[in-house]
Amino acid sequence: MLFGPPGAGKGTQAARIVDLTSKPQISTGDMLRAALLEGSELGKEAKSYMEAGELVPDDIIIGLISQRLKVDDAKNGVLFDGFPRTIAQAEELAKIAKVDSVISIEVPDDSIVQRIVGRRMDPETGEIYHVDFKPAPESIIDRLVQRKDDNEFTVRNRLKAYHEQTSPLAIWYENQGLLIKVDGEQSIKDVGDEIISKLSAR
Ligand code: ADP
Ligand code: ADP
Repeated sequence: MLFGPPGAGKGTQAARIVDLTSKPQISTGDMLRAALLEGSELGKEAKSYMEAGELVPDDIIIGLISQRLKVDDAKNGVLFDGFPRTIAQAEELAKIAKVDSVISIEVPDDSIVQRIVGRRMDPETGEIYHVDFKPAPESIIDRLVQRKDDNEFTVRNRLKAYHEQTSPLAIWYENQGLLIKVDGEQSIKDVGDEIISKLSAR
């Protein structure tokens, strides 16, 4: 499981771990955005929360995850990215799956705003870029998109939700001996190297 504030680098590091382990990445944020694009009932319900930078209610998220874990590719383990985000979600998860490791990517609030506001995505490949920290190749710059919720106002709410509702989970998992802390303020490569070396040392 990849844990950390919005913009910590969970999605970025997930790509490397997926390449290494061949386990599917399950990102509730990506699943919710897909539902929003489809215009499904679930997407309609989640929309206002996401645009305000608030957490989507637990029952919606838990429904989404229990369906996803029934898909064949989840049989041999998965990599969660951005889930769970509340103690209630973690308690429900504990009933249906065993958590091996929780990688906590630690980044202070000051750096988060800069990361979120400069984040760009390539809609064709899903690759995550940053205007300063991970510039995209010139040839694809025109097709990059910015998430609607990646603005300074929403990010403050997302950080608030993180500190109030999500960060208590770090202690919850630490008490279970599952938490692996990683310094998220290094280069993308060094963060990944630290994750991999700490995971292999377990
Ligand atoms: P999360 O999935 O935790 O919300 P992302 O992986 O999308 O975070 O990263 C947020 C933004 O910060 C992206 O623009 C990404 O390119 C950039 N980023 C990720 N890791 C680092 C890092 N170690 N140093 C600088 N920028 C980073
Ligand atoms: P980031 O890592 O940048 O915060 P995500 O893509 O993980 O972004 O999430 C985007 C939004 O989707 C969140 O602000 C929240 O509204 C909703 N969301 C995603 N995952 C969850 C979750 N596990 N519980 C509640 N809301 C969620």
